[in-house]
Amino acid sequence: RAMFTERVRQAIARGRRKGRCLAVIFLDLDDFKMINDSLGHAAGDEVLVEVARRLDANVRGADTAARFGGDEFAVLLEDVEGSQEAADAAQRILEMLALSMRAGHREVTVRGSLGISVAVADDARNAEELIRDADAAMYIAKRDGNGAYRLFEPAMHEGVLARLELRTDLQRAIDTGQLELYYQPVVRLVDGSVTGVEALLRWNHPERGMISPADFIPIAEETGLIIPIGRWVLREGCRHARRLEAASAERPPRMSINLSLKQIQHSDIVADVRDALEESGLRPDRLVLEITESVLMDNTDLAVERLRALKELGVGLALDDFGTGYSSLSYLARLPVDVLKIDKVFVNRVGQDCAEGRVAGAVVALATSLGLDTVVEGVETTWQLEVLRDHGCRVFQGYLWSRPLPPEQLGPVARDIRGAAVPVPAPYSAADPRVGPAAG
Ligand code: C2E
Ligand code: MG
Ligand code: MG
Repeated sequence: RAMFTERVRQAIARGRRKGRCLAVIFLDLDDFKMINDSLGHAAGDEVLVEVARRLDANVRGADTAARFGGDEFAVLLEDVEGSQEAADAAQRILEMLALSMRAGHREVTVRGSLGISVAVADDARNAEELIRDADAAMYIAKRDGNGAYRLFEPAMHEGVLARLELRTDLQRAIDTGQLELYYQPVVRLVDGSVTGVEALLRWNHPERGMISPADFIPIAEETGLIIPIGRWVLREGCRHARRLEAASAERPPRMSINLSLKQIQHSDIVADVRDALEESGLRPDRLVLEITESVLMDNTDLAVERLRALKELGVGLALDDFGTGYSSLSYLARLPVDVLKIDKVFVNRVGQDCAEGRVAGAVVALATSLGLDTVVEGVETTWQLEVLRDHGCRVFQGYLWSRPLPPEQLGPVARDIRGAAVPVPAPYSAADPRVGPAAG
């Protein structure tokens, strides 16, 4: 790191004298932790050595490649024409990374995210600042999806700073009790019964207020914090499900808990689920784990194996957000899932177009023929409900019945829905702060 910084310093001085540009490329491997976790540290080391070798073979004599620490590398390109040339170099690095390599006894492919900062001859930034900016651009590349490069723009700083701050804060969030689970009922139309509740994570940040999982789960995944967070969600969700069970005279709702891809890839997942069940005393068949299709994308065999192992614990599995990803019906039959959750994108379109109700209905029919239960997510209006009902959809989740609620408010709402027992529930009154009006 020190030598690299020194070389950048010298290159800046030379560039100023000669009126030439230079570029710093910052490289961070994607999911490197996963290689370490799944193949072992020796294999991880082999990957790092091979990446270093490839970088070295790929730079010109006058350029410098360095390892910055962990899975971070940096490349200094001297004497470039401008950003296009630097971008071309970044593209070449991505391509050479993509070639498979040996690690342990396996062939693996790694990907990286790259950030580039280019300094023109009269650039005022010093070496540290150039490197920092390349690092910032790398963050953006990572956020936008792995395996890409980004050129630094000054506006990137703000976003990156906010993100770095959240990263640090998130580490404290678990210990200081800032994480909460909200619960959203899943409703069966025929009798208005609440067949399940889905646990949805909320971060009650001391300064920023409630942060949505869409904003912090990617950070949790990137930093590996999703493992302890996911463990907490499992324990807390199971504990609450047990409480619901104790409080309900009739059939208690099943508890749905979301798992992220990183959790499935992590070897402890089966033990974590088993521990949460044992600790809470919840019967395994009262728990449903929700996964998305992304689980299947990288290493399908491992994922299917893990899902089978989870299934053997006796829990239910749901495929979440069906219809948003690569939704291939062909693998549905291969997966040990019992529930298909049809994403709100289908429902949103129902507002404009009745034909969309047919699509959702057809998916429900198909799922049923495969022996799967279905839940349609994101129903907000009575109109959507009527269209979907007419096309054979029976079990729903959405703001029309209830938003996700903190545990202390869940009980009454669950009863209200059941008490109502109407095929097309009358929307709750707008005055009811728990539920809010049915939008639309
Ligand atoms: P999801 O599992 O598909 O959860 C459903 C999302 O749809 C929730 O968003 C819920 O609040 C929202 N929703 C429910 N009904 C309606 C509706 O009628 N209209 C609209 N527009 N939205 C509705 P939320 O709580 O923001 O969660 C977003 C995503 O974050 C979840 O999507 C899930 O993928 C993830 N997530 C939440 N909690 C956890 C967790 O504990 N672990 C992991 N790994 N992921 C989680
Ligand atoms: Mg879900
Ligand atoms: Mg969903």
